[in-house]
Amino acid sequence: MRAVAFAQVDSAAGAVQSARAGQISMNDPQTLAATQYLAGGTTLLDLMKLDVMRPRALVDLNRLRPRPGEGIDVGPDGLHLSAFASMADVAEHPAVLRDYPVIAQSLQLAASAQLRNMATLGGNVLQRTRCSYFRDVRWKACNKRNPGSGCAALEGVNRQHAVLGTSDQCIATYPGDFAQALVALDAVVETADAAGTMRRIAFGDLHRLPGTTPYIETVLAPGELITAIDVPSGPWTRRSRYVKVRDRESYQFALASAAVALDMEQNVVRTARIALGGVATVPWRAREAEAALAGKSLDESTAMAAAGAAFARAHPLEHNAFKVALGKQALVRALLEAQQIA
Ligand code: SF4
Repeated sequence: MRAVAFAQVDSAAGAVQSARAGQISMNDPQTLAATQYLAGGTTLLDLMKLDVMRPRALVDLNRLRPRPGEGIDVGPDGLHLSAFASMADVAEHPAVLRDYPVIAQSLQLAASAQLRNMATLGGNVLQRTRCSYFRDVRWKACNKRNPGSGCAALEGVNRQHAVLGTSDQCIATYPGDFAQALVALDAVVETADAAGTMRRIAFGDLHRLPGTTPYIETVLAPGELITAIDVPSGPWTRRSRYVKVRDRESYQFALASAAVALDMEQNVVRTARIALGGVATVPWRAREAEAALAGKSLDESTAMAAAGAAFARAHPLEHNAFKVALGKQALVRALLEAQQIA
């Protein structure tokens, strides 16, 4: 058994200061043993039990949780969400269901009801990959868990792994759903650091491609804490849809998913916002697909052409080539279903 220091805090500034005092180092190769923030714990506690993450100290954020129904503000400029709100509260909020259906759907289709009650938005977007080699310490070769050790998945069983955004160092899939909706809607995260400085980061810039440093997953500085998520309003938010395809219809991660939001003039696409999940190493904005649809009449044929553009640079491996066809179908379905929204 390992001793773990534990601190409870009452403010975001207190959290960051506590983390700094514990010499937090969340963004370097030692990250698995560094001080960690603890909110719902739905990823972190799993990984601690598996001995994958071995934090020396935990900073408990649970006193920062808003009361049920609070921490969700909807106004003419958009949606402002506390990063400490639960997934369940946001998924069930009437204004989110009405004005930002892609957000509500991405949250409803994630995890289980119990986990959605526990998990916070901030923790959800930072969840770690489900790569089975990462989660099983008996496998030595994992560049994300053990930098420089290799990647067991490249020559191993890679059915669940990514076909977009991969490198020769890591092909792990980003596992979340909510993040795809945030990328598609051009969301922004607010963060706090130990100096009390607030930073705003475009959600599409938050996650890093694996490249040669797959153990560095985000652009967050050591100890930087996500405090809020802003989603701008726009004529596309109501006509939005999240489609998730998985091995079973409940409590399962995506094999392929698509978040879309459309601004249309009758049947012609003014702008399309598209993000893909289950197929990429990060929440994946499909700019080529968006460009393929702009100014076009939306039907099955133009949707298929956009899906083809989205996967034109896919790099499938031995077991995951099916994700290209599946991802295209998920995107076509999301586009055609969003088109039907009044
Ligand atoms: Fe590790 Fe990434 Fe390879 Fe999985 S895909 S074994 S997380 S390096």
